[in-house]
Amino acid sequence: MCRPTESNDGPVLKDTRSPEEIAAANPWTERDVNWGSCCYQLFIHTAAVVGACAVPSASWATLGWALALLFLSELGITGGVHRLWSHRSYSAALPFRIFLALCAQVANQGSIYHWVRDHRVHHLCSETEADPHNASQGFLFAHIGWLLVKKTPEVIAKGKTIDMSDMLADPVVYLDKILFPWSNLLMCFVVAPSLAVYGWGETWYTAVMVCGFLRYCFGLHHTWCVNSFAHLLGDRPYGPNINPAENFIVSILANGEGWHNYHHAYPYDYSASEHGWTVQYNPTTFVIDAFAFFGMAWNLKKATKQWERRQARNAGGHHHHHHHHHQTSHTKAA
Ligand code: ZN
Ligand code: ZN
Repeated sequence: MCRPTESNDGPVLKDTRSPEEIAAANPWTERDVNWGSCCYQLFIHTAAVVGACAVPSASWATLGWALALLFLSELGITGGVHRLWSHRSYSAALPFRIFLALCAQVANQGSIYHWVRDHRVHHLCSETEADPHNASQGFLFAHIGWLLVKKTPEVIAKGKTIDMSDMLADPVVYLDKILFPWSNLLMCFVVAPSLAVYGWGETWYTAVMVCGFLRYCFGLHHTWCVNSFAHLLGDRPYGPNINPAENFIVSILANGEGWHNYHHAYPYDYSASEHGWTVQYNPTTFVIDAFAFFGMAWNLKKATKQWERRQARNAGGHHHHHHHHHQTSHTKAA
């Protein structure tokens, strides 16, 4: 069930329960298990532990490359799949889009197309049974549980209503969809780690286990923290009535994606945060700004003005002219 935007007159039964009450009545632990996905996660997490054991045998260059890959793969998700493709919060030139898609393939979180569809449903139906990682079902479900059970009929039905024509019109997304999952598996576990082998003579075993499996598992959990921690813990200055919250630690882990109360209030803002990277930790915004500086990104959308207008309205029309940060210069710089 996606909450109706307007109540119906007439004899329609309206669900007056809170999202938490609905979730408690339909616990995710009673859903059909997705055994394939369970086996996959068990394998990945076991391999990550084996990868952790290989860390002492890795060279410093290999460990540095693993950290760089962690950053780049998350950038593919945050700057590419999330802010560019899911929300179209800015426009990017073809070389930048290819770069982001390759980074997203290293992150190996499904095809861009499917990630975008699930994420658009998440925003449309936050904290309802149609939300793929409904945080009302609790921390564990929002973090990883949603991948271990089958989707609810509501999630599937809502996913089919999402307009994805803009995604298929982008040849980068289209190609990524056709090549899935082989491109992801190759980029994540072979191509990206291979730099350590050919670059400075690391063994294939250590390169794949540390730069592949261990790094991949950390990247998954960092992204999942946005769905779990940032939907449950933190301040809610932009939308006190929604679950998503401003969470600094998640921003550190997920390249600036923890300013989640603002993001759900204004999903089209390219920074996914009120302020720029000089004020709020946000390396993804820094990278987009850098590409914009070189003309590879433009039309960077900011919601600062809408937020200021709403604050003025909430203050009862008495608009106090105090220290507003005018971040709109970002848009002009493009
Ligand atoms: Zn969210
Ligand atoms: Zn989003």
